[in-house]
Amino acid sequence: MQDIEAIGAVIAEPQTVLITTHQNPDADAMGSSLGLAGYLRKKGHRVTVVTPTDYGQNLYWLSGNEEVIAFDEKVRVTVNQLFDEADVIFCLDFSSLDRIRDLAPLVRQSRARKVLIDHHLEPESFAELALWDPTAAATAELVFRLIVALGDKALIDVPIAECLYSGLMTDTGSFRHSNTTGDVHRMAAELVDLKIDVSSIHRRIFDNVSIDKFRLLGYVLNEKLNVLPEYRFAYITLTDAELKQYRSKTGDTEGMVNYALSVEGVVMAAILIDRVDEIRISFRSIGDFSVRELSNKHFNGGGHRNAAGGRSKLSLAETEQKLLAILPEYKELLFKTV
Ligand code: 5GP
Ligand code: MN
Repeated sequence: MQDIEAIGAVIAEPQTVLITTHQNPDADAMGSSLGLAGYLRKKGHRVTVVTPTDYGQNLYWLSGNEEVIAFDEKVRVTVNQLFDEADVIFCLDFSSLDRIRDLAPLVRQSRARKVLIDHHLEPESFAELALWDPTAAATAELVFRLIVALGDKALIDVPIAECLYSGLMTDTGSFRHSNTTGDVHRMAAELVDLKIDVSSIHRRIFDNVSIDKFRLLGYVLNEKLNVLPEYRFAYITLTDAELKQYRSKTGDTEGMVNYALSVEGVVMAAILIDRVDEIRISFRSIGDFSVRELSNKHFNGGGHRNAAGGRSKLSLAETEQKLLAILPEYKELLFKTV
């Protein structure tokens, strides 16, 4: 689904555009959304970015951040109005509406043209146009591809380049995951040639950690990391009380699951977090083992082969038991992975 020409036609004349992305947006969600917003503003469109929840403060420096509206009940009226006024809604970095919480009914019911730009598997068909490619490393890569294909590469300035680079850098794990293709490096090279400061971007995103987050990480590594060598599996659980005790803020648990995956011999890792209304699970794996399939089958989720998420309405302890109970089903596959 690469409706680039049709998307070009939709934005040929100035439009009122709303861009949205998934809950707890990460750097690819925000970088691709704000990069696209910057580009569309340069083309004369009226653009608002609306996120379903707030996000980590390490992303607040991204250009256009001041104008982002993060949904909560206090801004419901404004958000309703923005959805009413929109001619075009761009949905970035998610493939199913259950990832945008309270914004889902607004997108579903809107009469605006809907355009999906995403790299997750199995898109739900709620958008009439799509630039969808699960082989893309990041949604930022697709936004870059779109701008270039529409003949507007010259409009990519430093602020837009910083946004797109941030998404590309984080979704490839700083250019080390298996999704780091030649195209990824070629895109990075083009952005770097615009004289963005890659070292500063990396620092602003990753070396910007609150002491509370480090204390929580210390606690997790000491007390909460469970390793099951018999399944090549490691996992972490976090209760709401623990999050509160460490004054955890949005984004503070991001990346934690990777420590579990880094344990020697581990092929699959998970973190189970009590978000009060539901248990959120992040899965990571290496090699051929697909956490997307596991999450899809058992935890109402999805994502990519090596990075997926899911959820459960059981208690944290029950969700943990459920996960432990399905491990025998995957034991053979976990040991096949090299
Ligand atoms: P994370 O664990 O970082 O939240 O998500 C890992 C990957 O899985 C991301 O690409 C994310 O978009 C995807 N993902 C996370 N949660 C869900 C979910 O509930 N459903 C689906 N389909 N994908 C998810
Ligand atoms: Mn992404």
